[in-house]
Amino acid sequence: MSFAQIKDNDALIGKIRTMIKSGNVPHAFIVESPRSVDKTAFATAFAQALLCPVAPGEGCGNCPTCRRIADRNHLDVIFVEATEKKGSKVASVRDEDVEALQERLGSKPLEGDRSVAVICDADSITPRAFNRFLKTLEEPAPGTVILLLSENMESMPATIRSRCVHLRLNAYGRSGEEGREAADEAAALLDGLLEGRPYYQLREIIEPRAKGRNDALLFVDALEGRCGILLTDGLPATERDRLYRLVAQLEETREEIRRGDRADSALKKMVLSALRK
Ligand SMILES: [Zn+2]
Repeated sequence: MSFAQIKDNDALIGKIRTMIKSGNVPHAFIVESPRSVDKTAFATAFAQALLCPVAPGEGCGNCPTCRRIADRNHLDVIFVEATEKKGSKVASVRDEDVEALQERLGSKPLEGDRSVAVICDADSITPRAFNRFLKTLEEPAPGTVILLLSENMESMPATIRSRCVHLRLNAYGRSGEEGREAADEAAALLDGLLEGRPYYQLREIIEPRAKGRNDALLFVDALEGRCGILLTDGLPATERDRLYRLVAQLEETREEIRRGDRADSALKKMVLSALRK
């Protein structure tokens, strides 16, 4: 996927294109978006735009450089991903992997004049590893670009955040149409919840979103976004409490869907917990 194929983030991508074409690219970014947005695909497109010799600032998607980046075979584009520890179901970025990356970034690029590092799930980096990583962020080798992919950059130390340029990807980066549908249905569900309508009426709204994991996750993101808007509106206390209960439940619902629980049961549980007095 190249920049041209990423939807609903035109302004942000335009800014990056300009940076690359002017040769003025900051060395570290935090790319933040809800979980449903494919941040790795965005980071891949970003690396292609940086390194593609055919269409600089854009990424042609077809040249050997672009292909090797997409296949993760490019020597100067390094991906670090979270892994599960033995006996644990929670994946996180290991300290050793961050250290190995730092060492790698300390030496010159192998193919051209730039190294690009993509740290997926950067929220899970330990404070200790972040602390060491500061050094790399402060004195990167020339031509280095580091992308920290995050669902919530508030989870990172302020010292890290202050050294990075923040890029916020729109929640509906994959498909605007789907996103708008999910947003409409999220608004309908929240109206129903705030009116205190019984579950059997609300079920009709969540059923179409509960058919698949991705639909359900997109719906949860849309609910979160809509709650954020409503909560700034000055609601009566009872309605506000109900929304807070829902917001508190959203992260758990996401986890359940992600680890493979049925989407319909997870969404049902979420609505019931918000309706509880
Ligand atoms: Zn290319």
